[in-house]
Amino acid sequence: MSNQAFEAVIGLEVHAELLTATKIFCSCSTAFGAEPNTQCCPICMGYPGAMPRLNRRAVELAIRAGLALGCEIAEVSQTDRKQYFYPDLPKAYQISQDESPLCKNGFLTVSTKEGTRRVAISRIHIEEDAGKLIHRGAHTFVDCNRCGVPLIEIVSAPDLRSPEEASAYLRKLRSILLTCGISDCRMQEGSLRCDVNISLRPFGSETFGVRTEIKNLNSFAFVEKAIAYEIARQTEALLQGNVPIPETRRFDAAAGKTYPMRAKETSVDYRFLPEPDLPPIWVSEEDIERLRTTLPELPDARALRLAQAYGLTVYDASVLVSEPQLADFFEAGAGKTDYPKLLVNLLLSELLRHCASDPFSSPVSASRLAELSQLMGEGTVNSATAKKLLLRLLDGDLDPRLTVKREGLAQVRDREQLLTLAERAMEEQPRAVTDYRNGKSAALRALQGKVMALSGGRADPILLESIFLELLSPHSDETR
Ligand code: ADP
Ligand code: MG
Ligand code: ZN
Repeated sequence: MSNQAFEAVIGLEVHAELLTATKIFCSCSTAFGAEPNTQCCPICMGYPGAMPRLNRRAVELAIRAGLALGCEIAEVSQTDRKQYFYPDLPKAYQISQDESPLCKNGFLTVSTKEGTRRVAISRIHIEEDAGKLIHRGAHTFVDCNRCGVPLIEIVSAPDLRSPEEASAYLRKLRSILLTCGISDCRMQEGSLRCDVNISLRPFGSETFGVRTEIKNLNSFAFVEKAIAYEIARQTEALLQGNVPIPETRRFDAAAGKTYPMRAKETSVDYRFLPEPDLPPIWVSEEDIERLRTTLPELPDARALRLAQAYGLTVYDASVLVSEPQLADFFEAGAGKTDYPKLLVNLLLSELLRHCASDPFSSPVSASRLAELSQLMGEGTVNSATAKKLLLRLLDGDLDPRLTVKREGLAQVRDREQLLTLAERAMEEQPRAVTDYRNGKSAALRALQGKVMALSGGRADPILLESIFLELLSPHSDETR
């Protein structure tokens, strides 16, 4: 990044669907995945004369987001009609908030390799979602189930400077929204979507360049790739003396490129006008304080607590809290083992690897994983056996300690027993012994593997290695 000609200036507009049971202005269900057009009514379809009523829960969740992100909450804010034509918007306007958002002036702390920075959040407003277009061959169908699903739009200041930082911001935002139960943030289902605004300027410049906006990115990887591509594209344009045009672009994931969609609209294009069918939204000081007391421990605080309480690395703790369910799982098991660091390793590197697609439906309970870490930590089994036991737990529940006893899986830690096996391995593999003595240290692995095989995979690998190093040392003949 350092040999770049220009500095990137990036601001994100993130849409998150709120976890309400019903829509923002009617009582239709918000459940995802129903038959198209089965969750609609005259209000969310915008029939003439239908009157919207604001869902209190949606406002509370939006305020909760504002509080978690350090915003000021407006005592009074208003809704506005944002007018545009598109087939997924039967009313031909979206009820949103223009000049008086519910929340403003917040921030988010973002950590990357480059360090930790505070990114300003300009505003959070509530609005309704539009429907969805379904393309089948030459035809396009409209599904209005999503019309009127409550959204918050979280707008960052143009404070981000790299693809990595933008994606770190988005991850942090997601973990806060999940932790606070504001949105389920399923990017693949569209309940969290991100628009990226990006411009370039010479390093040291205080003014902003002309920006483009890339719409509807639905994965962290796409956000990073789209930004990286756009930095390269705008750099090339600027170096050739061309100023990028202010436009809205789309990202084609297969090509890894962005393409122009339309000229960037300005707010004049939307002819915003105050929504006449809804009263202003009043929020009292008491409401705000009541909602503030219901906020859970936020991800940064939780990561710090987990790291301190269980001696975890900052990195492991931050991975846990990035997915609150992972942190919950860890905390459910952590009290049941003397080896919480081994529990984290089993969770993050083993269990997640086996159920990458859906880690939270894994049949392995937190206590079982904690028992495995205990057996490993106290030396009853080695890590190879622990991994085998984990595979068996994925197939069905069993008591790990009992299984170890019943099936004789305990680690062999008896020095004499290992010495005998090691000597046998050296007899059977004289070639490896010669190789090792001639400087091929990798030959040790063949000998260790032999003992592992002889012991049914149960040898204590650390003790075994020290025994081999002794047996193979140049002076071993004299000393024994
Ligand atoms: P609009 O009214 O077009 O949506 P906003 O002022 O609301 O514009 O800004 C939308 C997003 O664009 C914000 O996240 C903001 O940080 C970002 N942004 C604004 N100006 C720039 C710029 N010059 N370069 C990059 N991002 C920008
Ligand atoms: Mg905007
Ligand atoms: Zn409805």
